Amino acid sequence: MSEEVTKKVESLSVSDKAAPAQADAKAPVDAEKQQQQKQQQKPKGEKKQKKDKKKAANENARPLYVEPQPEFIDHRIKIFEQLKAKADAELAKKERVPIKITLKDGAVKEGIAYETSPFEIAKDIGKSFLERQVISKVNGELWDLERPFEGDAKLEFFDFETDEGKQVFWHSSAHVLGEGCECHYGAHLCFGPPTEDGFFYDMAIDNGETVVSQADFKNIETVCTKAIKEKQRFERLVMTKEELLEMFNYNKYKQRLIQDKVPDGTSTTVYRCGPLIDLCRGPHIPHTGRIKAFKVIKNSSSYFLANKENDSLQRIYGVSFPDKAAMKAHLKYLEEAAARDHRKIGREQDLFFFHEMSPGSCFWLPHGTRIYNALVDLLRGEYRKRGYEEVITPNMYNAKLWETSGHWANYKDNMFTFNVEKEQFGLKPMNCPGHCLMFKSRERSYRELPWRCADFGVIHRNEFSGALTGLTRVRRFQQDDAHIFCTEDQIEDEISGLFDFLKNIYGIFGFDFKMELSTRPEKYVGEIETWNNAEAKLEKALNAWGGDWEVNPGDGAFYGPKIDIMISDALRRWHQCATIQLDFQLPQRFELEFRGKDEKSAEVLRPVMIHRAILGSVERMTAILTEHYAGKWPFWLSPRHVLVVPVGVKYFEYAEKVQRKLILEGFYADVDLSGNTLQKKVRNGQVQRYNFVFVVGEQEQTDNSVNVRNTYIQEAQGRSSDIKLDEVIVKLHALKDSKRVDNVL
Ligand SMILES: [Zn+2]
Ligand SMILES: [Zn+2]
Repeated sequence: MSEEVTKKVESLSVSDKAAPAQADAKAPVDAEKQQQQKQQQKPKGEKKQKKDKKKAANENARPLYVEPQPEFIDHRIKIFEQLKAKADAELAKKERVPIKITLKDGAVKEGIAYETSPFEIAKDIGKSFLERQVISKVNGELWDLERPFEGDAKLEFFDFETDEGKQVFWHSSAHVLGEGCECHYGAHLCFGPPTEDGFFYDMAIDNGETVVSQADFKNIETVCTKAIKEKQRFERLVMTKEELLEMFNYNKYKQRLIQDKVPDGTSTTVYRCGPLIDLCRGPHIPHTGRIKAFKVIKNSSSYFLANKENDSLQRIYGVSFPDKAAMKAHLKYLEEAAARDHRKIGREQDLFFFHEMSPGSCFWLPHGTRIYNALVDLLRGEYRKRGYEEVITPNMYNAKLWETSGHWANYKDNMFTFNVEKEQFGLKPMNCPGHCLMFKSRERSYRELPWRCADFGVIHRNEFSGALTGLTRVRRFQQDDAHIFCTEDQIEDEISGLFDFLKNIYGIFGFDFKMELSTRPEKYVGEIETWNNAEAKLEKALNAWGGDWEVNPGDGAFYGPKIDIMISDALRRWHQCATIQLDFQLPQRFELEFRGKDEKSAEVLRPVMIHRAILGSVERMTAILTEHYAGKWPFWLSPRHVLVVPVGVKYFEYAEKVQRKLILEGFYADVDLSGNTLQKKVRNGQVQRYNFVFVVGEQEQTDNSVNVRNTYIQEAQGRSSDIKLDEVIVKLHALKDSKRVDNVL
């Protein structure tokens, strides 16, 4: 196992063996997602088959421990014990000299080289402190708590609440999962990193013949829990490349990792816990007993080294915590996230679907289209207030344009390209080059700047079919894209204006957000003064904004510094949607110019380009909002405003009259003329997420009024109130215009 952290691993699972062949190299394939997609596309008969399959897996259930125990376990332990004895003897010979250990708060402790370890220092501080600490850092290097200092040291501790602590905790838990899978399946382990929300381990079972089934999860957990109860210590040992190749001679994946990652003539470390000895740079928690809660979450398939030419492997995901309450909270969170899954709500509310005839391109049904358009209209309204001009630009361009923009050299693999009359063309993956052509289409003067040019154009990006995920990873999408062409002097004002824009839009959605400034990388284009100048302006604008922001030094694009904006949703998950990107390069590549203030001079100047999007992709934002609101749409965004329910046949006509009136006023209104009972109709209105149900009967018809039921507010559900139709329409308009989320009339 390598300690590299795989960030944002696309988590996807497979139960049938055929799937990996269709999957792409980068992303493992999610069984659940695939099944959901299949169910969307195929008749219902599928479900029964699935059940049968599960039953079969149960009948063939393996024993808890593979018997006899795989030979490689003893083989490894023999080599380990031999070398460990030697290493311990070496360690015993090291000179024990007094050392000084400086803690983060400046306190200095005395110790002895090759004897004292961070563990003792933490124990000195207090037993409960020690129990909480997951890992230490010695002179800037993450360091096992029980590994002795080798000289004077600066020492820091990390508990589970820190990123460092969490990663080490989950990384260590991956070893336990690996141990469990060796014991249960006799698996050949491959790669097992921590992720942002747990860990996984990739492995081949029975030479790749066996596929993990959900029915196995319990057994794996049982074996892992036993390893945890044994409080197995993580023991570190340095080994040479030759020794490693000998130790892992039974496992072609580890052989390959050793060959590729360990340079000839060098050494690296292995760690042992219980029967498992794994290639790993560490560090780890002191012993497996630190894990108080352990769970297998899901499984998927993957490819060795993420390359689909290589062996298909089984991937098992897990999660663990230092206390049981945290596990309980996490499982609850997963349940909540699943209930809010936009693909599920999208189906339930008839918003959109996908079809195998065009993977990654969404079919927006009428109600989904209403949401989509409400988002676009929100932006259009702001554009009017904020001096943007909307344009429409082509979808396909001659390759020559992409050569000028640099996309052909750097981005061609992500584009759909084709021939038209013997010339190469590409579908646009972004709008910027088209806007450059527009800027260049005639002479420009400083008086026209800043020019804020907005485009909801359709964009295509060539994502691997296996990586496509609902609305969050698509091939076809639209952005609330805009480019601001301005002078250097205008950058600061424009950026401040964008912050105000962001605050406004995210305020409506109820998102918290934070910003990150990425500055000049080592490789960059343009003048250094231009960069310094621009970065200073961005910083000034960020300080003036006054919110939460941090710097990522050297993380900017080569063509300009950028600000990434992260939003936090109702489940406190962070999403990056908006970006603000300064660009010194495209104006240069397209030789964009404008005439300066000095009319007589022939001098022409080069504008700066600001790329910016606030929603980002409208598709992805719809997914985020669906999950953020759990499908309970604020009135202004809702695809179903009012369901009119007549109490009897006698009032059908009046009900339809009310519906027509609401539609003419611009609301989405339906009428229920079915034979269902009144109670059932009202209930349906609630289930289908209408914001309001208007019940009409004798009195309402006489008064030209409606009986209003607010379906979104729990306390209001038993109650109702009669309001004149004209009056309620005024209130509905006010609610819609305010864009409030409370649904209070
Ligand atoms: Zn490890
Ligand atoms: Zn752009």
